[in-house]
Amino acid sequence: MNSAGIYVHIPFCRSRCSYCDFATGIYDGTLAECYVKALTKEILSWQEIEFPAAIDTIYFGGGTPSMLSASQIEAILAAIYTRFATEAEADVEVTMEMNPGTVTPALLHEFHRLGINRASFGAQTFDDRELARLGRSHTAQDSRQTFAYLRDAGFDNVSFDLIAGLPGQTLHGWERNLDEALTLRPEHLSFYLLEVHEGTPLADHIRRGMQPQPEDDLAAQMYELMLDRAGWAGYEHYEISNLCLPGFESRHNTKYWAGAPYYGFGCSAHSYDGSFRRWSNERDVAQYSDLIERDVSPIVEQIELSKHQAGAEALFLGLRMMQGVDLKRYYVQFGADPRESHKAELERFREAGLIEYEGDLIKLTRSGTLLSNEVFSAFV
Ligand code: SF4
Repeated sequence: MNSAGIYVHIPFCRSRCSYCDFATGIYDGTLAECYVKALTKEILSWQEIEFPAAIDTIYFGGGTPSMLSASQIEAILAAIYTRFATEAEADVEVTMEMNPGTVTPALLHEFHRLGINRASFGAQTFDDRELARLGRSHTAQDSRQTFAYLRDAGFDNVSFDLIAGLPGQTLHGWERNLDEALTLRPEHLSFYLLEVHEGTPLADHIRRGMQPQPEDDLAAQMYELMLDRAGWAGYEHYEISNLCLPGFESRHNTKYWAGAPYYGFGCSAHSYDGSFRRWSNERDVAQYSDLIERDVSPIVEQIELSKHQAGAEALFLGLRMMQGVDLKRYYVQFGADPRESHKAELERFREAGLIEYEGDLIKLTRSGTLLSNEVFSAFV
């Protein structure tokens, strides 16, 4: 069986960014303490699967997990290692999302001592005006300084999140941004195109003309520029939105695309058993904590996938990875060959240069990564 990953959701941030629609709120010490108690209880009493797979990755996401204290992180890790077995001899990849300016050198040393060995760092952009427009609470200088602290504390596996397609962002501005990120040379880069979600302050600002509408074509040019620049600097493009120096793929996130099991803890966390069952937790922090305190399951949604649905998911998640999907293995698992079941669409995509075949592998081309949603919609 594939090794599993553990996802832990920490729903607290220093302030609320204008584009954010994640399940997160402003940090409050008392609420955080109750939440960590609930979280450790959920982990220790978890029994969704009788024989869960051994784990080899743990991911603290949010929110801003680095807002928690070292002792709170230690308690959560202790609960995980009590309830779950690790693969024999596996070195567990333990990632924590961190935001610039939210951590001190002493706290980073503590996190590293506790076994956090990968930092996913929300730099977003190195332009202070763009950061202010996004409502981010840090500056470019905070990013540079926190990155230096991370290196000093021994973090030798750091990922930067970068966001493109911001209102008013120019191609030249994006280029300067990229140059700065590549000069710092983190081991991993995650690239996002800004999505404007209804109900966020940013959507409201754009509707009222206070900020310009992001341009799709420009965002596509930014994506291409990023692939070129990072490629020249030695980064491998291994997933639609992710690049890394050789050997530094995110092992945890790869589980999501490769169909491996992952078990999520905390409010709004999602889980997958690695075959046909997905489930997710209550989204609201207070309600989640209350359910756990009353010994009631926090699960609010469960989906049993049919073989057809599981096959479709395996295809569009697998195609996110540049290595593609092995159709021979796919046939063994799902008893279908997309070259037959989706013959017409795949031929159309191949002729349009969006996909290509290499033996039994089917892959997105570079143009295909830009129009991936169109390709994926054929399988849903
Ligand atoms: S730091 Fe991330 S999770 Fe927190 S408010 Fe900003 S975008 Fe949302």
